[in-house]
Formats: sequence, C-alpha cells, structure tokens
Amino acid sequence: MQPTIMIRSAKYETCQEVINEIFSHYNPDLQGKKVLIKPNVLRGSSPEEGVTTHPAVLAAVIKAVKTRQPSQIIVGDNPGASGYGDNEESFRGTGLLETAGEYYENLGSRVRELQLDSEYLPRPVVSEAILEADYIINLPKFKTHGLTGLSGAIKNCYGYLPGAQKANLHFTAGNPYDFPKALLDVFSIRPPDLAIVDGILTMEGDGPFSEDLRRLGILLAGTDMVAVDAVIGTIMNFEPGLIRSTEIGHERRFGEKDLDRIHIDGQLKVVEDFKLPEGYLRPQEGGPSDFWKKLRAKRPEVDKNLCTRCGTCEEECPAEAISMPDYPVVEKDKCIVCFCCQEKCPTKAIQLKDPS
Ligand code: SF4
Ligand code: SF4
Repeated sequence: MQPTIMIRSAKYETCQEVINEIFSHYNPDLQGKKVLIKPNVLRGSSPEEGVTTHPAVLAAVIKAVKTRQPSQIIVGDNPGASGYGDNEESFRGTGLLETAGEYYENLGSRVRELQLDSEYLPRPVVSEAILEADYIINLPKFKTHGLTGLSGAIKNCYGYLPGAQKANLHFTAGNPYDFPKALLDVFSIRPPDLAIVDGILTMEGDGPFSEDLRRLGILLAGTDMVAVDAVIGTIMNFEPGLIRSTEIGHERRFGEKDLDRIHIDGQLKVVEDFKLPEGYLRPQEGGPSDFWKKLRAKRPEVDKNLCTRCGTCEEECPAEAISMPDYPVVEKDKCIVCFCCQEKCPTKAIQLKDPS
C-alpha cells in the first residue's frame, strides 16, 4: 500500500493542534498497549541548539497518547556521544526530563542481549523497553549527519543501543559506506510504528553537531520510516539515491523510497540552498576519529568511597564482565562498553575511565 507522509506548518507554541491532526489521521489503536516514545537526545543541549527533539513536541505527543488510554507510556532514549553513560543528565539538559515527568525511563538501566544477523553487531545489547513496547513513536530531529547524510526516522533508532556500543559501531563501521548498513541492522531489531519529525527548528551543514540552524517550521509524520527519510532527504535537496540508509532500508523491504510511490499530504517544498554535510558528500580516507576511539576505549571503574557493595552492577551486567571478590571488578576484555552498570548503580559509584 502506498504510504502517506503528512507535512504541516507548525510552531512549537501551537504544535498540539498539528500533533492531534497527525494522531487523527494515523489513528493508532493504543488502548491497553505499552507505548514507547523515543525522542532524539544526543547530549544535554538546550532546545535552541537544534540538536534534540524539542520538549514542546514531546509534550504534545504525550498528551495525544494519553487520550488513547494506553496501559503504559515510557519516554526514553540512549543518548549518544557525550551522553554515554549518563542518560538522565542528558535528558535533564534538553528539558525533556521535566517534560517526560513520570513517564521517563532510563533506557540504559534495563537491557537484554540479542543475537542478530549482522556482520557488525552479532550480539547487541538492547534496551528492554524497546523490545517490550507494543507501539513505538519515533520523534527524530530533522538534521544533517556526516555518516548518514541525514538523521531522521532510521537514524533515531540507533538509540536502541545503550552506552558505547554505538562508539564500537562507529569504530568498526565508521564510514558512510558501512555505517548505514550497520544502522539498518540496528533498525531491524524493532522498526518503529509512527514517526513524527521535529522539523520546526532544523540543523544543516555538518551535523549532528553543526551550529548552522534553519527554521523550516514543519512537522512531518508517517508510519513508513523509509518513506519519512525519503521525504526529509528530498526537502534537504539531496540527489535521489544519495542517502544510503534510505536505499538500504528499501532494499531490505522496510519501506518505500520513491517519491512517485509516496502520497504526500501537505506541501513538500525542496529547500534548494539547504547546506549538506561535507563529510558525507566527500568522505575522507582513513579510519574512525580519535573521538570514537577514545570513547570506545573507556571502561567502568568503581569508586570504593561511594560503592555500598550492593551487587546490582554484577547482577545487571549483560556480558558477565563484573565479579565481586570484595568490591566490583570489571574484566576489561569481556566488557562490551554498554555502560549499563553505570546507569544502574544507585550511588553513582561507577565512572568511565580511559584505560591509562
Ligand atoms: S551497583 Fe554501585 S554501589 Fe552497587 S556494587 Fe556496583 S558499584 Fe557498588
Ligand atoms: S561492565 Fe558490564 S555493564 Fe558495565 S559497561 Fe561493561 S559490559 Fe556493560
């Protein structure tokens, strides 16, 4: 069936109206269901930096979901990059923790190891809340990205992985050719059911950390994540076929990439001078950056002054890398750097340290 992508003009102050219209259109049956809402949280940056989903969008989505009587609502993400190992702090900085309120769950604190048909990540550790959800609402930020061209509905699923497993993948698949394949492997674990993209304040240039922002003033929505990304790529004025994650998503039958086969409900305006990420258009030779190498090398270490020897970290470590002869000890070669021990430690006794 031909997917429909909605595009509506919107402002943060009044976005509830548009969100309600989106829910009326897609009409998800949420009654008695476990609903997971996943905003895009990269680090604890303020909404004005255009890096993360705006709290006004999250607030409007929570309100719309509540009217449909779900049995449970969870709001969470595993923030990437500088957010590794402290999900709550990243959420707080974005204003999303306060907005999520009682619905916030630290997705790094409950995890499960899976087996995956992936050359990059055969045994991923994934947040339990993702696997348990009956319905996932994906709230990506409309922005550019050096490894994937754009960060949209597919890229936001990278946050299914807690901790520096993401840094590991940036290391083993750290180029624009391999990374989209690894990303689709992660996406395949649980494709979301509905995406609502925050395209009100957007990021252009060398995202996802760019300072070049553009106020497009739109919200996009759809139930086909590949089609959502195809529309984002078109608005950004990428040449057709250039976004590899969209192409691979289509090849793997996750959705439609061809604009001729996507029904657009609203006005699709191509932004002809949208600044595209140089790193994606002209990838450099060489391996992953020092930034990812350093993150990947970090390991948890226990501060004995804070540790109460409760044993939680040992119980919760999915790789069985922690033993407790006295205080917890991490076996460095076994550790898969998910940082779940740090997320779970009740006394914040675990810190991330460089191997030196
Ligand atoms: S969870 Fe924290 S307090 Fe408990 S044993 Fe581990 S390091 Fe110590
Ligand atoms: S010690 Fe275990 S829980 Fe902690 S980061 Fe390593 S694998 Fe994850």
